Amino acid sequence: MRKISATYIFPVSKKPLKNGILILDDDNRVVELIDTKGKIKEIAGLEYYSGVIVPGFVNTHCHIELSHLKGKIEKCNSLEDFISKLTKIRAADNSTIKQAIYKANELLIKNGVVAVGDISNNSLSLKTKIRSKIKYHTFVEVFTQDDKMVKKRYKKAIKIYKKFKKNNLSTSIVPHSPYTVSEKLFKKISRHSYQNNSILSIHNQESKHENELFVNKTGVLYDTLTKMGVDFSKFKITGRNSLPSILHYIPKINKTLLVHNIYTILDDLEWATDYIKYLYWVVCPSSNLFLEGRIANLEMFIEQNQKITIGTDSLASNCGLSILKEMKIILEHFPQIPFDDILKWATLNGAEALDFNKEIGSIEKGKISGINLIEGFDFKNMKINKNSTVRKIV
Ligand SMILES: [Zn+2]
Repeated sequence: MRKISATYIFPVSKKPLKNGILILDDDNRVVELIDTKGKIKEIAGLEYYSGVIVPGFVNTHCHIELSHLKGKIEKCNSLEDFISKLTKIRAADNSTIKQAIYKANELLIKNGVVAVGDISNNSLSLKTKIRSKIKYHTFVEVFTQDDKMVKKRYKKAIKIYKKFKKNNLSTSIVPHSPYTVSEKLFKKISRHSYQNNSILSIHNQESKHENELFVNKTGVLYDTLTKMGVDFSKFKITGRNSLPSILHYIPKINKTLLVHNIYTILDDLEWATDYIKYLYWVVCPSSNLFLEGRIANLEMFIEQNQKITIGTDSLASNCGLSILKEMKIILEHFPQIPFDDILKWATLNGAEALDFNKEIGSIEKGKISGINLIEGFDFKNMKINKNSTVRKIV
């Protein structure tokens, strides 16, 4: 049993407690959270920390299998530039990839992450995920615009999906993006998701040219992919932005994570909320800035009462895998957003999006959420600043 206290405890599910006391059992499950009303009691064996205690972080968008590409792409001008560069350097031998996956998992743990929504195109991360302390939801990603390839690609995805399932790992099959998946493939994924009531995730509006592709079948994204050999001959112009163009492929009742949303406008948001019941908007600030030099219009999502979650994306487009760092970037760009809200995006919302909220996401009786200590906290303004650091204490 451990008894822990700090300057503040942020349970996330309720208001912060000044000098609160947290009691954990031998499995680190929360037994009790005591509100001392700011007056610390003398308790034998109490660990006291100067700083704030928060639940373990949830990273809702990562590609751990790309960890071997850390630092390989030094500069990027756009998503299209990134895609071209990534395709050229992605290949490596399996042992190099597996080793990098193992290291990335360790890094995530060190950074206080307790759950990850991870995009996978293969099963190279399987062993690390089986052994990891982190809860992983693996999104088995599939894509092709070529209908002749659909059967093969889908079969491969099912094979990977079954491998993860067999090892009791949470998993689902997901489309890569609106522009890389043909109608035929979308329908197959959709049926599988509906039948298994699985969680969907799709990259959304990461490039401004994604909308242009659906409206006019022109633009830099169209040109880049065509040059890479993608056959858009069957691709139909919808005359609308990419998101409203593909929403009918997403079953209404499936939890859905839309990732990036850099160029999502209010009209797209309204379409999405009309179609999807359980919707989460994932932002990956470091990666978004690296690729496109901007991040999603978070104020719009807040005004529309939307659920936001945070991801790091992969080490190919981010120099680290730290949710705290992503939170700092959000606060730099949107200083008016309360820290409590951003913390909820980084914990409870993410846990809910990945269906792990029964166990993690908040410090509540019965949960085994992991405990992080944030040091260098700005108590005057009750938020993190650029010098804040995180330490996993449970
Ligand atoms: Zn991604």
